[in-house]
Amino acid sequence: MRSITIVGAGQAGLQLGIGLVRKGYSVTIISNRTGEEISKGRILSSQSMYDMALSHERELGIAFWDASCPPIEGVHIRAGNAQSGPMIDFRSRLSARGQSLDQRLKMPRWMDEFQRLGGRLLIGDVDMDELERLADAADLVLVATGKGDLGKLFERDAARCAFDRPQRAIALTYVHGMVPRDDFSALNININPGIGELVHFPGQTHSGACDIINIECVIGGPMDRWDSVATPADHLAMTKALISEFFPWEAPRFENIRLTDDNGILFGRVTPTVRKAVGVLPSGKAVLGMGDVLVLNDPMTGQGSNNAAKGASMYLEAIVARGGAAFDRGWMEALAERYWDYAQWSARFTNSMLVPPPPHVLQFFGHCGQNTGLAQTFADAFNDPRSLSAWFYDPEATGRLIDEAAQMA
Ligand SMILES: Cc1cc2nc3c(=O)[nH]c(=O)nc-3n(C[C@H](O)[C@H](O)[C@H](O)COP(=O)(O)OP(=O)(O)OC[C@H]3O[C@@H](n4cnc5c(N)ncnc54)[C@H](O)[C@@H]3O)c2cc1C
Repeated sequence: MRSITIVGAGQAGLQLGIGLVRKGYSVTIISNRTGEEISKGRILSSQSMYDMALSHERELGIAFWDASCPPIEGVHIRAGNAQSGPMIDFRSRLSARGQSLDQRLKMPRWMDEFQRLGGRLLIGDVDMDELERLADAADLVLVATGKGDLGKLFERDAARCAFDRPQRAIALTYVHGMVPRDDFSALNININPGIGELVHFPGQTHSGACDIINIECVIGGPMDRWDSVATPADHLAMTKALISEFFPWEAPRFENIRLTDDNGILFGRVTPTVRKAVGVLPSGKAVLGMGDVLVLNDPMTGQGSNNAAKGASMYLEAIVARGGAAFDRGWMEALAERYWDYAQWSARFTNSMLVPPPPHVLQFFGHCGQNTGLAQTFADAFNDPRSLSAWFYDPEATGRLIDEAAQMA
């Protein structure tokens, strides 16, 4: 039986580990936190996931929350400032629903499922020496440690990185008490140009249905004033204050929000980074990266967990297809290149939303307000950002898409 070791028990590592044990591999996952520690700890993400990514969980029989998790049925984009209100305003239902399940619920449950299926879960903080030992003992070692330090083993791929520093200060908050929309539940993205974004959508946490708020503050801008925030109550108060000041059209829905729990807050910055897929250990042995280790996006468009799920599914298929042949460096690089064929489009989509939009994108967004087909085309890009590749970044192709949509309307 081929033995595979995965370092890191997040979306990427656990999904792949469960897939591999189901296929009869001997799999060890090493996590630096127990399920109980994850469950009782801070929120980790806003983890909105869409149909393509969720379908991989469904295929593995681990979509345990499909019946309970409130759906994300559509997308609503607004852009404007406090004085003007939204100058761009369009919405559409998604072709298929998304959902956001608190990773504090998901990962501990998946750890249990992994072990129930026969996987070996070890708890420990893997360092380079340990990685060497693991690489000696297994046919293949995958590093799925997210933003953890071990990822630095993988060289930054400068040619594929759009930024070398964080673009936003990010404040994440899980709340109860929000006024629901009166049309359909949605991924709401509000853009205040040059200042930042308010992104929110429904989810499920320890205490049931909730709303998840992600405030993205342009670094050094007027919303980047979280230094004075010390307590969960301060965090909630700052969230409400920023929404009132910079997104007043949304403020009435937030008047009575309260934290789901004191751990339902997170603040940080992410440097969007692409890394080379293969890490070479001092002994010369190669290990393969996955998930956030390879492609780390700003959470603005909510693509990271989706990437991790799609990548884990791709890796599962490739490992099985490899049969008994060696998992050598050439195979690792070819697989990671196939992953990049997909993930480059989620990175490009995300990065394009972090900078001022070019005129043709503004024009497109303007037309989305009058044309439901165009609005749905954009909404569905959150499920599969490759769908933007043929036109969104090209003024002429976008113009043609707008013309065609106008003729069909
Ligand atoms: C504020 C915020 C909001 C986000 N919102 C969204 C969203 O709405 N939609 C979306 O798709 N994505 C979102 N993301 C991104 C998403 O959470 C990540 O892309 C996804 O969780 C990555 O999965 P992963 O398995 O690669 O890494 P992780 O989920 O980070 O898992 C890595 C695991 O490895 C463990 N680990 C680390 N180092 C070691 C070590 N040395 N030894 C052993 N274990 C180790 C960690 O404890 C962790 O459990 C968001 C991220 C942030 C920060």
